[in-house]
Amino acid sequence: MARNKVQFQKGLSEQEFERLYGSEAQCRAIVIASRWPEGFVCPACSGTKHAVLKTRDLFQCNACRVQTSPIAGTIFASTKLGLRVWFRAMYHMTQSKQGMSSIELGRRLGVKQGTAWKIKHKLKQVMMERDGAKSLRGRVEIDDAYVGGERTGGKRGRGASGKTPFVAAVETAPAGKPVRLQLRRVSAFCGHAIAGFAKRSLDPACTVVSDGLRCFSSVTEGGCSHQVIQTGSGPAAARTPAFKWVNTALGNIKAAITGTYRSISSKHVPRYLAEFEYRFNRRYDLAAMIPRLTWASVRTVPMPYRLLKLAEP
Ligand SMILES: [Zn+2]
Repeated sequence: MARNKVQFQKGLSEQEFERLYGSEAQCRAIVIASRWPEGFVCPACSGTKHAVLKTRDLFQCNACRVQTSPIAGTIFASTKLGLRVWFRAMYHMTQSKQGMSSIELGRRLGVKQGTAWKIKHKLKQVMMERDGAKSLRGRVEIDDAYVGGERTGGKRGRGASGKTPFVAAVETAPAGKPVRLQLRRVSAFCGHAIAGFAKRSLDPACTVVSDGLRCFSSVTEGGCSHQVIQTGSGPAAARTPAFKWVNTALGNIKAAITGTYRSISSKHVPRYLAEFEYRFNRRYDLAAMIPRLTWASVRTVPMPYRLLKLAEP
């Protein structure tokens, strides 16, 4: 039932998108309303009385005369691109289950691939910071996986070199449905890394269900209890009911990443995983993803391109 609801929900049609976000003025109004939901607040003195300098797109505080651009200090800052282009990028990134390569995104937006890459990674950064601090609760299915090359989401590469290891964890409701997914890069599948993951990402009252890979017993260092369910090996392991949702999520990631990207360098892996996680966790309400992402975007300090490209996020 739940899966069908997700698969067949309409999302936001292109026509509806154009109606809501088709003009620069509409996008600007949404950014302003997201940034100042109670009306303009001066970032310098917290004054609210202001004038709008129409010709330069600035808000001027009546009290201290400081002029503020609605996009200053947000992810949309210092861009020569119109907000319309950003909104169209958000549309493509959130409405397609598979995600989109920067080549394809550039083509759709009518910008160079490098520009599309920057937009995409800035928005991924927003998604990552948005979800990074939330903990999973209750029953959590956990599994180990790798991203990169052919074995993305695959299991057979346990310990394979050149791959980036990550933990996939799904919180499930008592009725068995998935509530929330987390995908976190780890340095390795060792007890130390898993203890760190548990402390950062799991509520101490969690019951973690794993297939018994040795390092997973370290979730107890985060206060969680640990239940091992032996799955054996081979294709039957992937069908074990106890791991239905974590396996489903990993299958979807594999399809999304191998279908869309040729390769992903290790330093960018957390942002790719964050994009997938963000979409998965909001899959019941595709249309709301754009306003929600806008809300988060005006609250995310922009990372310079240079750092985005180099930093280990
Ligand atoms: Zn002021």
